[in-house]
Amino acid sequence: MSLPGNSLHPGLLAVAQRAGLTKRLMDRWSSARPSNFDAMAATLDIGPLDEATGLLSHHPIGVSTGIFAGDRGRWPRLVDDACGISSYVVELSALSGGELPGLLSYLGSGPALPFRYLSVHAPAKNFDERVAVDQLCELPLAVRSVVLHPDVIVDVALWKRLKTRAVIENMDDRKKGGRTVDELKPIFKALPEAGFCFDVAHAWSLDPTMELAHSLLDQFRASLRQVHLSSLDSAGHHIPLRREDAQLFTDVLSRCTDVPWILEAMPPAGWV
Ligand SMILES: [Zn+2]
Repeated sequence: MSLPGNSLHPGLLAVAQRAGLTKRLMDRWSSARPSNFDAMAATLDIGPLDEATGLLSHHPIGVSTGIFAGDRGRWPRLVDDACGISSYVVELSALSGGELPGLLSYLGSGPALPFRYLSVHAPAKNFDERVAVDQLCELPLAVRSVVLHPDVIVDVALWKRLKTRAVIENMDDRKKGGRTVDELKPIFKALPEAGFCFDVAHAWSLDPTMELAHSLLDQFRASLRQVHLSSLDSAGHHIPLRREDAQLFTDVLSRCTDVPWILEAMPPAGWV
């Protein structure tokens, strides 16, 4: 079966929409002009949720703008970068306090954003807690989640103002708190409306058997708002998801299929 012009086979279109990887995949498929659906599906290796490429079938999926370090602070460009991978989900990352005013002014200018799920990563360094909370409270309501690092929270009462938009992320083995169920419980008790951002690689860094990951979900699954997904290198930096980690993470990820997944490194080869 040949495809007319640049049109996509409805099956491929459905897969693209399900994966949330619209623009770049469609460009690739359009230029490839596959002669039949089966051949193209085979090259994409869309499989069950048990291998790296199979994870692609999760929907919705998107990226953190933190992966585009070269464009830091240039919000229109960062959004374009993110749309190149997914126009469905994004996390706008303002990890340093100095990035927040620029993000507020960008979002305040009313840009037309395509995303169905929009989260913002709150500052985790170089910030004044009271000033940051004031600024975060000014984010437009289109921002559903504000991801917080619990280990840098000093006056937890201040963060109550974020109400249901506060989302607590579990920390990695390099941090001094917010890593385990027992360390996170007091934060959720103080912020009862907060959601949970489950960082799979952070849990793995503390317990490669993934028992901690399951324990975190056992305790906080009801509050789960989103997932952070990547692998970590030996220095604790987020790197593209390794195939062996994709397999190792499959069980816990299968408990998170109803929430957005945010990639904190470039997608693995073969995803886009
Ligand atoms: Zn984080």
